[in-house]
Amino acid sequence: MFRLDGKRVFITGGGGGIGRAAALMFAAFGAHVVVLDLDSAAAEGVRCEVAELGGAASAFALDVSDEASVLSVFSQAEREAGGLDVLVNNAGISICRPSTELSLEDWNRVVSVNLTGMFLCSRTAARSWIGRGVPGAVINTASIMSYSGGGLHPNISYQSTKAGVVNLTRTLAVEWADNDIRVNAVAPTWVRTPLIDHLMADEGQMEKIRNLTPLKRLAEPEEVAAAMIFLAGRASAMTTGHVLAVDGGYLAR
Ligand code: NAD
Repeated sequence: MFRLDGKRVFITGGGGGIGRAAALMFAAFGAHVVVLDLDSAAAEGVRCEVAELGGAASAFALDVSDEASVLSVFSQAEREAGGLDVLVNNAGISICRPSTELSLEDWNRVVSVNLTGMFLCSRTAARSWIGRGVPGAVINTASIMSYSGGGLHPNISYQSTKAGVVNLTRTLAVEWADNDIRVNAVAPTWVRTPLIDHLMADEGQMEKIRNLTPLKRLAEPEEVAAAMIFLAGRASAMTTGHVLAVDGGYLAR
């Protein structure tokens, strides 16, 4: 139920953090992984890691917020991989500032990567699936911050876009259900990746995170990747429009 042999899995933001862990795990479950990242050297590095472990992978530079880049890279990557079965919309950025000090440029950058990028990649994949009359699966990376006003530090653009990811997920799940395209999301708690280096360097903040989390720790990238594996294949064939928390109980409080 969990094997993904022969599936072509595109992972945005696959060059680092959660995306890298996902690339390695999808390959271990038999998928051909297409690593897509703004940082082409990072994408290539993950492709090499997958290949060294005996997996199949390709790597491409991609800016998810750039429509022309999404259209041309997806079409090239689909040709090279022989198709596309699962899209993992994982690229995301965070710019922490008090809302009164956040520039419009920074707001727009976060919206364009975290939300518009997800729309562009999903639309491109769905056009391909619907055009060929084949099923597909989309997995979006939301966050516990999709449901929370935060509190550790001000981050209005991140929290607004992650809330948007939840309803983008539900809306596309409903719209594309007739086309046999499932759309789900994961909502991680704080995960040990470079995105939160600034928090991990601050013991006071780490103590607050432990106190907010019933399981009293951060998540590891592999724990988020494992939830993505479930949402990608036959094991979740009846699951769509769902947001799977990987949060150590944060949202249950
Ligand atoms: P990360 O910074 O370690 O990795 C993000 C990757 O995305 C990087 O490789 C980066 O180069 C790439 N990227 C950035 N902008 C891009 C763009 N425009 N186009 C393509 N690629 C781009 O971060 P991470 O923690 O692995 O985050 C992955 C996802 O998980 C994000 O959506 C993030 O919001 C979400 N998330 C992270 C945490 C956490 O605590 N780390 C918690 C909840 C959700």
